[in-house]
Parts: sequence; C-alpha cells; structure tokens
Amino acid sequence: SSILSNVLPAPEDPVLSVIFACRDDPCPVKLNLIAGAYRTEEGKPLVLEVVRRAEQQLANDLSCDKGYLPIDGLADFNKLSAKLILGDDSHAMEDNRVVTIQCLSGTGSLRVGAEFLAKHHEQRVVFVPNPTWGNHPFIFTLAGLCVEYFRYYDPQTRGLDFEGMLEDLGAAPSGAIVVLQSCAHNPTGIDPTLEQWEKIRQIVRSKGLLPFFDNAYQRLVSIMKSNMPLFNLNFHGFATGNLDSDAQSVCMFVADGGECLIAQSFAKNMGLYGERIGALTIVCTSKDVARKVHSQVLLVVRPMYLSPPIHGASIVTAILKNSDMYKDWTIELKGMADRIISMRQQLYEAIQARGTPGDWSHIIKQIGMFSFTGLNEKQVRWLAKEYHIYMTYDGRISIASLSSKTVPQLADAIHAAVT
Ligand code: PMP
Repeated sequence: SSILSNVLPAPEDPVLSVIFACRDDPCPVKLNLIAGAYRTEEGKPLVLEVVRRAEQQLANDLSCDKGYLPIDGLADFNKLSAKLILGDDSHAMEDNRVVTIQCLSGTGSLRVGAEFLAKHHEQRVVFVPNPTWGNHPFIFTLAGLCVEYFRYYDPQTRGLDFEGMLEDLGAAPSGAIVVLQSCAHNPTGIDPTLEQWEKIRQIVRSKGLLPFFDNAYQRLVSIMKSNMPLFNLNFHGFATGNLDSDAQSVCMFVADGGECLIAQSFAKNMGLYGERIGALTIVCTSKDVARKVHSQVLLVVRPMYLSPPIHGASIVTAILKNSDMYKDWTIELKGMADRIISMRQQLYEAIQARGTPGDWSHIIKQIGMFSFTGLNEKQVRWLAKEYHIYMTYDGRISIASLSSKTVPQLADAIHAAVT
C-alpha cells in the first residue's frame, strides 16, 4: 500500500496551465510571451559579457573555494547590494541600522521577509496592489499572513488609480504591511510619479504602515528612460552618489528615518535568473534594533536552507565592486533596455499600420519588460488556440521576448482578436 497515493493533485493554476499549454504545443512558430525573461533578437537567452568575465575571473582565482557561506551569505555582496539600492552616502548604512542578507533571488528575499514578519510583527495583514505579480499572494499567505488588495490600476484610463490607492492605504489598519513595487510595476507597467510617491510615503508614515519594497527591475527602467549618451551618464554608486531614479522611491522612504523592507533581485538586471541571487534588506530605526532583527532573520533562514549558494553572489560582487565592470554592466544593460524599447515601438507601429481599432499608445507609454495589452481572457485563449501565441490571462505580454521577426506575427494576431 502507498502512503503517498492519498496525495491530491494540486488545483489548476492559471499561470502554470498556460506555461504547460505552451510547452506542449508542437507548432514550430509558437510564441511564448509568458515569462519576463530577456531574449535576444534571435530569441536566445542572453548571458552578459561582463558576467562571463566575472565567471572567468572566479574560475582562475585559486583562493575561491566552494565552502559554505555564512547563514546570511557573502558579506561583500550584502554591503554592495544595500549600496546599490540605498546609495553610496546612505545615512541609514552609516548609522549601522541596515540589515542585509543574501537570499534566493527576489522570491526568496520576499519569502524570508514574509516569514520574519509573520513571526515578529503583530499586524498580520499585508496589502498588495490590484493587480500584482501573481506570486505575491502565495508568498505572503503561505508565510501565515492575510493578503488584502489596494486599488492600483484603472482599466478606464489604463493608468494609476492614484486616488483609489491613497484611499485604500488610508483605510488600512495601523501597522499593516504594504507591498510596493519600486519600479516597472508587474504586470501593468505603470509606476507612480515622484510627486505621487511622496504622497504615498506621507500616507504610509502617517498611518504607521510598514512598507515592503519589491525591487525586481532596478536600473533597467532608469536606463530605459535615459536619453543621454552613455558616457554622460553618472553611474549610481560611483563618485556622484545616488542618481539612479529607480532607487528614488525606496530612498524617499529611507531618508525619512522610518522602517522598511526591500527585496532585491539580480535576475533581470544582470540576467542571472537561474543563479537565484538576491538580497533582503531591512532598514531599522536604530543600530540596536538592527542587531536584534539580524539575529532573528538568521533563525528564519537556518532551518529552511542553512545558507545561500555562493556562485551568483560572487558574480554580482565582482561586478559591483569593480568600476570598470560596473560600467560595462551599465552598457550591456542599456543594450537590453534599448532593444525592449524598440520592440515596444515596433509593436505599436505594426498595430497602427493594420488599422486595428482602439488606442494602443499604452504599449509605448508603459515601462519595464512587460506590456499590459488590455486583451481580455477570452481573447488571450483565442490567441493561443488560433495563433499559438501565449501570454498570461490578464493580457500581459513579455516585450523582452519579442523580436523584429515575431512582431508582425503578434500584430496580425492582435488585429484578428479585436476585429
Ligand atoms: N517580483 C516581481 C514583481 C517580479 O516580476 C519577479 C519576477 N517575475 C520577482 C519578484 C521574482 O523574481 P526572481 O525570484 O526571479 O528574482
């Protein structure tokens, strides 16, 4: 007899089911626009040159071993990651009230933060944007917290429902955790302006809410927005301090001296998806609080996986600590950003050229790796069936997975779906 035969199959998950449907579709020209993973114009995954160089360097360095890292990971990595988001001249870091621990990419950082909060924060409610990245509700629910939503996207204007957002945050119970995506909001591609961030900060602080930033796309967006030639760009973390606008939302909250958590990922901005490298930073109000928090975070990690993996952390550290490699990273990041912007433009123009009804300008207005197309679930299912084009049921497509070759294919299909 089998004990495990009593296990019930997992309920169908809408995202996984579309991933499996795409995987099992034998059509040679199927188009996978589901995951936010960068692809080259040839449709291939990209390993950055600077990452290859860092790996060579590590391979040749006989002092690098494969021993266990401490529970909280590689110390240099933690410091450099915190600096990347908080800036070179962060008072919070100078005051030693910042705790950073290496985690398993963005997801692992969110989960460790959620487990820590579930154990040590008495308010058990966490507010996430409606809509948000599909994994957020799972991560927080499984950690034992109660997930609620604040208004974020207005389908009418295809923009931010700023009034609704402020109203919902204003009505949240004191101490509630608020998940904020620091830039390139997934799935909508819509971020608050700096003025709006300031109003959000005021309401979060005045209501005594606890902000938890999800920072999965840092530098990608600021580089997208920058029209400056690269040699005029000031590099965040070098010489001129914090000029990375993607970090500004977070830095506003840190500058006021209050608490926050930050989950950082190096999956997208360094193309290190499979290395599972990220960091959880907890900004505390004093050195004394930070010491206690640090000791408790170690207790969260130890029984889960003992200590994090070494390779990805060593790559990121090599790049962040060397100004030449940092600069080369920026140049390659700019290359990815430019290709994504060009795909947005090409898709928009291709839809225009077909005379497809409706206003499609949101495709070029949204920011980040995705476009929230406005296609509904019925249209999405139809596109999969008739055109072998796959996206999540909310109509989100990964712009970073398109190429000049596949844009016309997608534009034809969108045109057919809405006419
Ligand atoms: N947060 C957001 C908003 C994301 O879009 C993603 C990736 N899709 C993540 C976190 C986590 O990514 P990873 O665990 O690969 O760093």
